[in-house]
Amino acid sequence: MPEKTFKGIPASDGIAVGPTFCYIPAELTIPVCAAGTVDEEMARFDVAREYARVELQNLYEAIEKRAGKEEASIFEAHQEMLSDPALEGKVRTEVEFGQTVEQALVTAIDDLASLLAGMDDELFAARALDVKDVGHRILRILLGLPDTALSAVTEPSIIIAEDLTPSDTASLDPELTLGFITAQGGLTSHSAILARTLGLPAIVGMGNDLLDKVSSDNTFIVMDGRTGEMIIEPDWETIARYKQMKVQRESHLLILKAAAEKDALTANGRRVEVAANVGEVASTREAMEHGAEGIGLLRTEFLYLEDTQPPSEEKQYHIYREIFEVMSGRPVIVRTLDIGGDKPPSYLPFPNEMNPFLGWRAIRICLDEPELFKTQLRAILRAAVGHHARIMFPMVSDLDELRRARGIVEAVKRDLELDSIEFAADVPVGIMVATPAAAVLVDILAEASDFFSLGTNDLTQYTMAVDRGNAKVSGLFQPLHPAVLRLIRQTIDAGHAKGKWVGMCGELAGMTKAIPILLGFGLDEFSMNPRAIPEAKDLIGKLTDEKAREIASQAMSFGTAAEIENHMKGVLASL
Ligand code: PEP
Ligand code: MG
Repeated sequence: MPEKTFKGIPASDGIAVGPTFCYIPAELTIPVCAAGTVDEEMARFDVAREYARVELQNLYEAIEKRAGKEEASIFEAHQEMLSDPALEGKVRTEVEFGQTVEQALVTAIDDLASLLAGMDDELFAARALDVKDVGHRILRILLGLPDTALSAVTEPSIIIAEDLTPSDTASLDPELTLGFITAQGGLTSHSAILARTLGLPAIVGMGNDLLDKVSSDNTFIVMDGRTGEMIIEPDWETIARYKQMKVQRESHLLILKAAAEKDALTANGRRVEVAANVGEVASTREAMEHGAEGIGLLRTEFLYLEDTQPPSEEKQYHIYREIFEVMSGRPVIVRTLDIGGDKPPSYLPFPNEMNPFLGWRAIRICLDEPELFKTQLRAILRAAVGHHARIMFPMVSDLDELRRARGIVEAVKRDLELDSIEFAADVPVGIMVATPAAAVLVDILAEASDFFSLGTNDLTQYTMAVDRGNAKVSGLFQPLHPAVLRLIRQTIDAGHAKGKWVGMCGELAGMTKAIPILLGFGLDEFSMNPRAIPEAKDLIGKLTDEKAREIASQAMSFGTAAEIENHMKGVLASL
């Protein structure tokens, strides 16, 4: 059979060559039998939920060990869903109509999932998948079946699936999983994020007919998570070529990783900081292993989203302190809580917002809820003693906002002094440049900001007026758009004119197609996913400042993101 090539969304770098394992979750057949009394059926529901809770706790612990707290937190959310009153209420109503608990659960899950899926929002669609995942687990337990068919994988394989739920991804055996390809899913799906963290090749969004294309187990395929290509029944030349590319790429990455222990320097010897974005202690350790010279963004939201109440000062103090210790003296920028938008915690009274990304988010919440904000600031200032910490406010768009936030920092310092509690008095305080308003006001904001860090994920969203989570307009989410690049250049120039350090912690900072341009703009620090660091340092080392300036000025002469990307393809190929 001649080889056939298909293309999906490249979700996690890496090449895999091997047989497929088609994962088709078992259809759970509900036996037709008479229902017991309401109490009997609901008692079976309670027991099954208790078993599910234990399974989820085991999964949580396994993933926490392998990939860290942040990745594992999805299984905490699943445990919470087990006691969701909406689920329980729906099941009870159906049981009261005379259904068995299995039948009632199927109806309840279908109703809840289609309600969420119909909300035309990627996040809600993802929640629908979670609801189905939890429902499937309870049902399987009620039917007395063992956990997931993925346990049937017995030899190293590339997993092919319609979609992978978080439970599926978590139960993939890293020794036996060469990579995975899914018909559904996007770059922000849980499985894609986990694949990147685990360094597993992944392609998502291959299309609904994926399982028709790869119709059986043990079909030999090649997958390239960097380009999104899947080749079915490759001929021996293709196999040899990809195997060689795999070995070359892996040994190249190993060499780069070893070289990444050194600080980043341009070809003309200018020092540029290459730092990591992390979410908790495990990813901070990974950052150190990949050569991070600091943490350019510590996302603190996970602490606020993992529980039904805000984290205490002591809990935060210990976690920040541990992260500072792992980084042993290197700088760490702690972003104060950036919740709201797509990340609303359950304990704050969120209004029903038409446009949550334009609503009650980040610094706006902190200024309205000063006690919540003060607790975090106390924890950071106390943990920073003897360390090189900085505080960064997200989503600032106005000088008054910044002055008020700084005023709260000063008030917290006074309180700590009055309480005779030790704290670091000299922690620099800066802002994230994530709104166009902040980008054009940098010269003015410099009055109250010790440094700036460009948050290009949100800056792109707000500049292009494109919801970063909406798959329908994802083609317009272009961080290399000339409008975004102009704001970036303007921010760096204005910051430098005021003698301020300007870094970047949006995804753009880790993209090889953007690094030469940003270097040419004179960016002081590039902060990225830890695994992207070695390649970024290598690229910086190949460029002189003069060459980077030339590349940047050529890039800025183009009118569209596509033209700029095309130009950068040529630049990277020539290096
Ligand atoms: C950003 O907006 O660029 C950013 C780094 O923050 P987040 O992705 O957490 O919104
Ligand atoms: Mg942001």
